[in-house]
Amino acid sequence: MPTDNDGIMVILSSPSGAGKTTLVNLLSEKDNYKISISHTTRQPREGEIPNKDYFFVDDKEFKRLIYNQEFLEYAKVFNNFYGTSRSPVINNLNSGKNVLFDIDWQGADQIKNKKLDYKLITFFILPPSKEILFERLSNRHMKDKLIVDQRMQQFERDVLHWINYDYVVINDELKNCYLKIKNLINAEISNGSKDYDPQFIRQHVEKLTS
Ligand code: 5GP
Repeated sequence: MPTDNDGIMVILSSPSGAGKTTLVNLLSEKDNYKISISHTTRQPREGEIPNKDYFFVDDKEFKRLIYNQEFLEYAKVFNNFYGTSRSPVINNLNSGKNVLFDIDWQGADQIKNKKLDYKLITFFILPPSKEILFERLSNRHMKDKLIVDQRMQQFERDVLHWINYDYVVINDELKNCYLKIKNLINAEISNGSKDYDPQFIRQHVEKLTS
């Protein structure tokens, strides 16, 4: 059983372009969460800082980490491998720090299935509409229409995993979305009442998938 002194685990997943990374950074800055730094075999993007944004490793090193069972979870996403190493996460949780994961649905499923002795809250972030998602992805990948098309197709598949999360939050406006997540976490911790409407979420997902 989790004790009151242990930290909690919060997972944020979302289809690409829903604004999750910004939310993770906001939560860690304002609410003192430790962000779990993943390993990845993908190349660093412009502006990314090694050992802060990711531990960038080659395929051989990633396989070694799998072989040595160092990952709490790992998955292939968009042709690259991503994984969460176990020991920093467990050390932080045992010393009472909350840990925030920016990982996809495959990683979220794996961590959930591990049934660790720490409280786990999972969030799936969705865009307000497909049109807005398209706009956000087009702004991000201005030069590459193919990437935008691929990410839109991936969205259709990723969105189906919403059902496995504790909460689905719509990122209509960053501050608003951040506050919704923060309030739900606080309500979970204190067993307080939750401002959450599953029926509304179901209708929103139906709109996104129609
Ligand atoms: P990006 O390459 O855009 O940083 O991330 C692509 C996707 O991989 C995102 O959905 C992100 O949440 C996911 N991701 C990042 N790190 C991990 C990880 O350690 N494990 C898993 N399963 N997914 C990850």
